[in-house]
Amino acid sequence: MPKIDLHMHSTASDGAFAPSEVVHIALQKGLEVLALTDHDTLGGIPEAIEAAQGTSLKIITGIEVGIENGLRDVHVLGYGIDPNHQALNAKLEEMREFRLHRMEKMVDKLNAIGIGISKERVREIAGGAVIARPHIAKAMIEIGVVTDYNDAFNKYIGNDSPYYVKRLVLTPVEGIRLIHEAGGIAVVAHPCRYLDPLGVVNEFIRHGVDGVEIYYPDNSYKLRDDLFKLATKHNLVVTGGSDFHRPDPNGNLSIGCEDIPMSVVEGLEARLGQHS
Ligand code: AMP
Ligand code: MN
Ligand code: MN
Ligand code: MN
Repeated sequence: MPKIDLHMHSTASDGAFAPSEVVHIALQKGLEVLALTDHDTLGGIPEAIEAAQGTSLKIITGIEVGIENGLRDVHVLGYGIDPNHQALNAKLEEMREFRLHRMEKMVDKLNAIGIGISKERVREIAGGAVIARPHIAKAMIEIGVVTDYNDAFNKYIGNDSPYYVKRLVLTPVEGIRLIHEAGGIAVVAHPCRYLDPLGVVNEFIRHGVDGVEIYYPDNSYKLRDDLFKLATKHNLVVTGGSDFHRPDPNGNLSIGCEDIPMSVVEGLEARLGQHS
C-alpha cells in the first residue's frame, strides 16, 4: 500500500512541527503524497513545498476551515486551491484576526474564574501562527491548572464549556464557493465527529461539497461502509488522513497511519482537472 496522508497540521496553525519538519517526518515514513491542511491559513504551504523539492514526495495544497449551519460546526477541507488566491486569503485574514480577539475573550472568561493565564503568553506560544484553543490549553498546562490537552478541553475550553467563545466561521455556501473560486474542491472532514455523520454529509452534498473524508482514524468500519455507499451514489471524491497535530503521549507520530490507496489521489486529481 502506498503511503498517503491528506490531513495534517503544522506550526502555521495548531500543530507542533514546522511545515518542513512535517515533510521530513513524512519522508522518513516513506510517504508518497501529502497535504498540509492547517486551520484558516495557507501560510505553511510554501515551506512544505520547498522542503519536498528534489524528493519524490508530492504535495497537494490544502486547508481546513470551520463552517457553520445553524447549530453545527462542521470542518471542511479544501484541496488543490491556489495559495495566492486573493478573495480566499482576504477572508482567511479576517478569520485569523477574529481568532485573536476570540482568544482574548476566552482568556478573560477563564481568568474571571481565577485560572490566571496571560494573553501575551498565549500569543507567544502561538508564535505568529493562527491562534487556536490548543495554544490556550498549552498556557494552562504550563501553569499546572490542567494536566494535558484533553484535560483542558474537558474541563475548560471544549465547545460546550461556558468559557468557549465561537470563532468566525463561514456558511456552507460561502465556504464551498470560496474553495471553488480558488480552484479547489471541498471535502467534509472527519464525519465521525458529528452527531449525525450521514445527515451532515447529505446536507453538505446539497450545498455543493465535492467529497468526504472516509479514511480517518476515528471513522468506524460501519461508518466507512455507509460513507462509501454515499460516495458512490453521489459521485463524491473520497479522501483521508491522520489529522496529525503532535506526538501522542507515547511519542508516536500518526502521520501516514491510514492505509489509503493511490486511487484516492487519482480521484482527487481527476476532479481537480475537471475544475480547471
Ligand atoms: P479552535 O480552532 O481554536 O476552535 O480549536 C480547535 C482545535 O482544538 C482543533 O483543531 C483540535 O486541534 C483541538 N481540539 C479540539 N478538541 C480537542 C480535545 N478534546 N483534545 C485536544 N485537542 C482538541
Ligand atoms: Mn487543530
Ligand atoms: Mn477538524
Ligand atoms: Mn484537522
